[in-house]
Amino acid sequence: MRDFKEVLYESLLYSFGKILAEYNAFAQDTVLKGVGREIIEYLDRNGFEFKEKGSLEDLPELIKLFTTNGFAEIEVTAAEKGDTYKWNNLYGLQAYSELQEIAENPFLSCPLNACLTYIAGKHGKSLRLHSKSFDMNAGVAYSQEEIVNADMVSEDGFDPLVIENRRLLKISERNELALRNALGQVQLMASTDYLTGLNNRRHFFELAEQEIQGAHRYKRFISAIMLDVDNFKKINDTYGHTIGDQVLKDVAECCRQTMRKVDVLGRYGGEEFAVLLPESDLSAACRAAERLRQRIALNVIDTESGTVRVTASFGVATLGDDRSTLGALLIGADRALYAAKRNGRNQVCSD
Ligand code: GH3
Ligand code: MG
Ligand code: MG
Repeated sequence: MRDFKEVLYESLLYSFGKILAEYNAFAQDTVLKGVGREIIEYLDRNGFEFKEKGSLEDLPELIKLFTTNGFAEIEVTAAEKGDTYKWNNLYGLQAYSELQEIAENPFLSCPLNACLTYIAGKHGKSLRLHSKSFDMNAGVAYSQEEIVNADMVSEDGFDPLVIENRRLLKISERNELALRNALGQVQLMASTDYLTGLNNRRHFFELAEQEIQGAHRYKRFISAIMLDVDNFKKINDTYGHTIGDQVLKDVAECCRQTMRKVDVLGRYGGEEFAVLLPESDLSAACRAAERLRQRIALNVIDTESGTVRVTASFGVATLGDDRSTLGALLIGADRALYAAKRNGRNQVCSD
């Protein structure tokens, strides 16, 4: 036999979904009755049988089904007058909060209540909540309920508790969405370079480190390219910083278009970019660098001060026994880059 609580949680999710699809309403009584009916049938199908006798005596029987299966402790007190029952629910707080987490709605976290409401409804009765409180120290939640004639509780009217629940749900949904958006923005801002949209230096290192570890683990090639725009200071001095920025954005776009999806691109410094090429040996990385060099050199950048053309110098290095860390790999690429500058710029050198 399956665990009662597990089946109960399942039945709650199942029945809530089914009932919401069935009724487009949030009237407490209607939804509770529907959910209650579904839960009872669901429990029954899973071996927790509830034998209805067809009288109000079914209510204490139903409570017994829950209590004997460890869901809650409940004291049922004798009818005070007529055919009215009154009882104290002593839900273990644990059970309550576990259910609340799943149901995400305090009103739905009370499956017993739903079942009782359904059975009571069959006899023209409703449940009226007298009080509800939590004792955190004792670890229990108390609620006191009474069976009353159904006409004493409005069938279609929105119970204040339901209205409050809906209001809180809406607020928490809105907050969650805003929080998620804000978090996404912060993460994006923390990892991207504001000007070029490439990975910033910090994020480049993070991603590159993962790639290096992967290369070590699976014994795969991995290489790095460092590139630096040639005589960029002159671009700024001639056309101004804004057009300088536009040129940097354009160079970044060339990188994006020329490199593969698996390559990790980063803005390394002012006019310096770094690329990590997984599964590429030195000659493959040099070929990629040469393609990018040509792409940048042939690129004509339209600006409000006329067309601007730039070139860049490239340094390439690959991971090997004598160069086994990201730091060492980048130092090698940087050294090659300076060789390319010394040799007259607009060229690819390897280390
Ligand atoms: P080299 O060919 O030797 O690399 O010469 P260079 O002029 O490119 O190198 P240098 O390091 O002398 O100058 C780089 C310039 O890049 C200086 C700096 O003001 C500029 N720079 C750095 N970051 C930015 C930026 O975000 N926007 C703009 N417009 N300029 C930047
Ligand atoms: Mg430069
Ligand atoms: Mg530089």
